[in-house]
Amino acid sequence: MSNIVAIVGRPNVGKSTFFNRLIQRREAIVDAVSGVTRDRHYGKTDWNGKEFSLIDTGGYVVGSDDIFEAEIDKQVELAIDEADAIIFMVDVESGVTGMDEDVANLLRRVDKPVFLVVNKVDNAKRAEDAVEFYALGLGEYYTVAGINGSGTGDLLDAVVAALPEKEEVEESELPRFAVVGRPNAGKSSFINALIGEDRYIVTDIAGTTRDAIDTKYNRFGFEFNLVDTAGIRRKSKVKEDLEFYSVMRSVRAIEHADVCLLVLDANRGFDGQVQNIFWLAERNRKGIVILVNKWDLVEKDHKSTKEYEKAIRKQIAPFTDVPIVFISAMTKQRIYKAIETAVEVYQNRTKKIKTSTLNEIFLPLIENYPPPAYKGKFVKIKYVMQLPTPQPQFAFFCNLPQYVKDPYKRFLENKLREHFDFTGVPVSVYMRKK
Ligand code: GDP
Ligand code: GDP
Repeated sequence: MSNIVAIVGRPNVGKSTFFNRLIQRREAIVDAVSGVTRDRHYGKTDWNGKEFSLIDTGGYVVGSDDIFEAEIDKQVELAIDEADAIIFMVDVESGVTGMDEDVANLLRRVDKPVFLVVNKVDNAKRAEDAVEFYALGLGEYYTVAGINGSGTGDLLDAVVAALPEKEEVEESELPRFAVVGRPNAGKSSFINALIGEDRYIVTDIAGTTRDAIDTKYNRFGFEFNLVDTAGIRRKSKVKEDLEFYSVMRSVRAIEHADVCLLVLDANRGFDGQVQNIFWLAERNRKGIVILVNKWDLVEKDHKSTKEYEKAIRKQIAPFTDVPIVFISAMTKQRIYKAIETAVEVYQNRTKKIKTSTLNEIFLPLIENYPPPAYKGKFVKIKYVMQLPTPQPQFAFFCNLPQYVKDPYKRFLENKLREHFDFTGVPVSVYMRKK
């Protein structure tokens, strides 16, 4: 689980330019693997070997050109709640503005590392102009030019140095389930239906810290850790009315989980916000179970679930091998099934397949359907193995890995899914040089 760094600041100071610069390098690689459209405001990066998640909070605010002051306040408050360090970006071109002062006032009271970053400093004159930002009362500042990257090295050195060492959460053999979804989907109701009263709590592992996330439960004969999200303890006064809030609150829980139980309101369907959370989980290579909640409210005929399922699978293509369970947190319908399914997905995710088995199946199969020749060259895949990673990743060793394109990798992934049950689990296929 990595640290979270949030970028705050008023519109047009250059937050997204800066964000893209830091994220691009890695995203390009991830994109090539899964071919999925990305959330442009959340991503992972690393500096000096330390990995962290970066969130461009401004990017989640709708119509950010005429942002209301109240919205920026909420944005900042949330960053304060959720992030481990905050980058407060201002713009040397426009100098100190009233909105900058408002943000500074909020940040001055924070006891987390705050980095005042003066952007668009692309010449010596502007470097001098930057001194006026001392007036914000946040002390030292960093000057950068997001557009060409100058100054970012010094800034990132300081940021990663200030990030807390994440204590490795007690390595538990138990599945960690995160209940995620948009506000009002019924997450709290589901959790309450599931765990009933506190007597089912076995221990509270994280205990006193702010990050009290994992709580161990024993229910229906299963033992699992439940990862806290918005529904359980709302830390902030902020009402979760923007997409940003539910997504951002999901980030930490998802990163911390093995399997995400994505709760959606049957009446609202698998809309944009839910999709964002889904892809967030997929991108983090987590197991996923989709829970269509409030099923008691839906008028049903004999084909309702089939049609509903089909519609969802269309939205989540190409990662369609995901269980969908229709539940009602209110009537407790199928909540046992939901947990049972999550346990199965967890088992799929931790499954290890013997190299000999893989090669027995895949070498003949590849022989019959080899990768298409590329530029007149033939690709010869020699052997396959599963990598020793927490989630399923498979390496296919061959002479010309760069010539194997996505469609063929997808073909291999589908074959893996056919032969071994990986339902609910993102599977990565890599071609390696041998
Ligand atoms: P956001 O609203 O804070 O995300 O700001 P954007 O990243 O969209 O940038 C706003 C404008 O500032 C765009 O026109 C950028 O091209 C410009 N900009 C961003 N970084 C720099 C920089 O380092 N120097 C200059 N001169 N312009 C920049
Ligand atoms: P959260 O914001 O995702 O934690 O959602 P809540 O658990 O607070 O639920 C939002 C609203 O939906 C509440 O009024 C619940 O009573 C209602 N609700 C939750 N689950 C169900 C369900 O299965 N059926 C019905 N009819 N209502 C539900």
